[in-house]
Amino acid sequence: SPDSAFANEPDTDFSIAANRRWIQGQLQAWRERPMFTVPVIAAGETVTTPAEGVGIDPSDPERPIYEWVQADVATVDAAVEASADAGKLWQSITLAERKAVFFQVAAALSAARGQLVAFMTYDGGKTVVEADTEVSEAVDYARWYALNTDQLVRLESDGASFQPYGTVVVASPWNFPLAIAAGGVLSSLAAGSAVILKPAPETVATGWLLAEACWAGGVPRDVLQFVPCADDDAGRRLITHPGVDAVILTGAWATARMFLEWRPDLRLHAETSGKNAVVITAAADLDAAVADLVHSAFGHAGQKCSAASLGIIEASVYDDPRFLRQLSDAVRTLVPGPGWDPRTTMGPLIRPPEGALDAALHGLDPGESWLVEPAQVGNSSCQWSPGVKLGVQPGSSFHLTECFGPVLGLMRAADLDQAIAWQNQTEYGLTAGLHSLDPLEIAKWRDSVEAGNLYVNRYITGAIVRRQPFGGWKRSSFGPGAKAGGPNYVSTLGTWQATTARS
Ligand code: GLU
Repeated sequence: SPDSAFANEPDTDFSIAANRRWIQGQLQAWRERPMFTVPVIAAGETVTTPAEGVGIDPSDPERPIYEWVQADVATVDAAVEASADAGKLWQSITLAERKAVFFQVAAALSAARGQLVAFMTYDGGKTVVEADTEVSEAVDYARWYALNTDQLVRLESDGASFQPYGTVVVASPWNFPLAIAAGGVLSSLAAGSAVILKPAPETVATGWLLAEACWAGGVPRDVLQFVPCADDDAGRRLITHPGVDAVILTGAWATARMFLEWRPDLRLHAETSGKNAVVITAAADLDAAVADLVHSAFGHAGQKCSAASLGIIEASVYDDPRFLRQLSDAVRTLVPGPGWDPRTTMGPLIRPPEGALDAALHGLDPGESWLVEPAQVGNSSCQWSPGVKLGVQPGSSFHLTECFGPVLGLMRAADLDQAIAWQNQTEYGLTAGLHSLDPLEIAKWRDSVEAGNLYVNRYITGAIVRRQPFGGWKRSSFGPGAKAGGPNYVSTLGTWQATTARS
């Protein structure tokens, strides 16, 4: 079975001095790298001009680190056209050969680990440790989705036949510029489609490194094309082109809605926003609860769909000054700083705060007060220290609106029932957490919480391929709802046909 053939790729052990020296060397090499240009690679061409896009290091937003070529509408059209033939070629290759390519892609990603880690710290503002786990996740997707194709074979042997979509556009996010792009690309390729990767405009270079690893592993260049676009006519053309059979998006709920307005018949698989809460009851181990809450709220500066934005705390705990002191002490030990500085435990925002995040960092609504007030750190408008607000009111803007940054809000709940009601009151349903050692509370919570990924007595981010298949409910997901990194994701990336023949 696929399970027995699969093992998760280990992260780097940075407690080993040689590993720390190795990553320092990789970071140094990137620091000294001159400006470079990220091309569009489509329809057999590598386009290097004009390079109108600019890649910046969010830890030092004044400093451009690369330029990138923005595909125009004609290039998008050429890519989609090339993809149709490429898809047929890819499907004509035996499954065993396709699988072999995937294991080579895993090896290429693994071999590039140092470069990928170093670059994600500059391109996406990830800390070294966060970037390192992302490489492991990408390697996992390569191997896991290769093994997932066994399921296609199994279902086919039951008389159903699978038709991959054909051409899939993968629109990947900046917060997991490698792993989530890899998940979309590799699952679609495993299903037998050709893929056009459109990386998030903020992290184009990391997307390029992923494409390079796939090509190095043996994916033909027309089977995976690399088409960075700005959010302009070309970006819209890529979604609405009739030759594009499906889109895999990870991004904001509003973006998914926009795609569907542009093209109501679009086959869209999307993992979208979250407003995730951790409930802590009087039956919790408070030391563990505090540590997990801080990890869930401030990993990647809160810029994960899975991040904890709310702590819904049972009144007796909320009113216990030891709890609040422990929480504020833990938050104050976080070290904001540049992603590439190994001392940093909380990196920068991808861009200066705007919208709901700006409001959350700067303002308090009635009833709210700061337990830990966030502040800009140094000269960078992207670098903030973490904030914790008390007294978030049910139905308030902070309770219900996703803000995607380093602010945690606490709500005081009378009991578990009220906590669950507040947890479910948001329109999203991605992750949810509970800290309680009471089995009856755990059972009740698990049966009533409306979210795709539930975590009991644990942090609520960092889903691992196969162990925590990932994906949400409600406004956190579009499409058939199969979970990324789960057993049946690949088999949803196409259509099935069942034939009954009477002889
Ligand atoms: N899969 C990631 C996690 O479990 C989150 C992905 C996202 O932010 O979109 O933390």
